[in-house]
Amino acid sequence: MRSYDVCIIGAGPSGLSTAIASSKLGVETAVFEEHREVGASSAECGGLVSVRCLELLKLNIDGDYVANKVYKAVIHSPDGKSLTTSLGPRGALILDRRSFEETLASRALHAGVDLYTGVRVKRIRMGRDRVELDVDGGTYRCRAVVDAGGALSRFTLENLGFNLRLKRLIPAAQAEVEVDYEDDSSVHVFLGRKVAPGFFGWLIPLGSGKARVGAACENGDPRMFLKRLLDRVGASKVYDEATRFILTGGPLPRTFGHRFLSVGDAAGQSKPTTGGGIFTGTLCGLLAGLTLAKATKTGSYSTHTLSMYEESWRNLLGREFKVQLFYRRIFRRLRDEALNSIVSTLSDRRVGGLRDFDFHSKTLNRLVLDIGLSCIKPSILRSLLKSLIPGLLGL
Ligand SMILES: Cc1cc2nc3c(=O)[nH]c(=O)nc-3n(C[C@H](O)[C@H](O)[C@H](O)COP(=O)(O)OP(=O)(O)OC[C@H]3O[C@@H](n4cnc5c(N)ncnc54)[C@H](O)[C@@H]3O)c2cc1C
Repeated sequence: MRSYDVCIIGAGPSGLSTAIASSKLGVETAVFEEHREVGASSAECGGLVSVRCLELLKLNIDGDYVANKVYKAVIHSPDGKSLTTSLGPRGALILDRRSFEETLASRALHAGVDLYTGVRVKRIRMGRDRVELDVDGGTYRCRAVVDAGGALSRFTLENLGFNLRLKRLIPAAQAEVEVDYEDDSSVHVFLGRKVAPGFFGWLIPLGSGKARVGAACENGDPRMFLKRLLDRVGASKVYDEATRFILTGGPLPRTFGHRFLSVGDAAGQSKPTTGGGIFTGTLCGLLAGLTLAKATKTGSYSTHTLSMYEESWRNLLGREFKVQLFYRRIFRRLRDEALNSIVSTLSDRRVGGLRDFDFHSKTLNRLVLDIGLSCIKPSILRSLLKSLIPGLLGL
């Protein structure tokens, strides 16, 4: 039976970044990916990330895994008004996920990782001194296992007892389309009950007349909202379409256990405000790799040693997740009138753009301060209260 120090389930951004970090530090690492090829399709993910995300991975921002660069966001309120805001001085990048993960996979192979594609992990058998993985066609042995199998992975529930599905998994539909669209440097965000109740719709330009258009919603069928949005933006041809889940419930209460770590979407480590999880999953993956290297060096995979992973990611992201979750809870209750008033007030006050593409709390806190209760229009206050009172009363 083939043995490794660490086996990782899933070759998404989180699993591959864990593998790169651990293998570079001398950990014998294997990654198992159930699909024959690594990488999400264009319809499965918006691919919008910060420049920081690629810097973290020491990847060039001009690599062919970057499909486009954007600098502005246009926010459309339910009543049809719009607000254009900056995405910060460095803008944001739109990844071709297939090519991004292929690049990470080749880095992982170069670092000495064994990558098994087309191999699904079926079962984990946790022993006192080792772990056994039953996979398609065989069994592997390791000293610790990492669940990086994404939002629907069941291994975190089985090993840590936390059910991600009870946290907010929001259905989303996205398509890559042809669209008659001049401005390739702006993403569009569409708000409102008729567009995407409880979340938002989006258009992410890919250049050359193509875009990713998507909608996620707390109620209803996202495919219906996507269809409406495609009509609204005048999409002429649909290349590819997918329905998946976006995670907005914040991280699990614990992400480590006996010889076990949970990383990325599997651990709920995506931004509660937008569901974006490439940067956060990558960062947590790198931190998981460091902890696994320490465990391998000391020969101790005790929960105490593995708890270092949780301590390190909570130090960097814990507060941010909490603040984003707070704003997410408010946002999902806002009615259309409140959204209209907020967009109109922000346009009047010419607010600055995003301060940081990953750490939204800075921008959100500033917006709240900027608008300030003292200058808030009575109409906004009325609609905010109407939106929030049922939530506060637990209705
Ligand atoms: C419509 C949509 C748009 C999005 N847009 C953005 C965006 O613009 N920016 C952003 O940052 N995030 C975005 N996200 C979120 C982003 O896609 C995820 O946060 C990110 O992919 C999480 O990476 P991961 O490695 O944790 O999991 P995944 O990317 O889901 O990778 C998990 C991998 O594990 C494999 N796997 C699962 N189970 C097994 C098993 N038993 N055996 C072997 N392999 C297994 C899967 O095949 C998969 O390849 C979007 C999500 C959706 C649904």
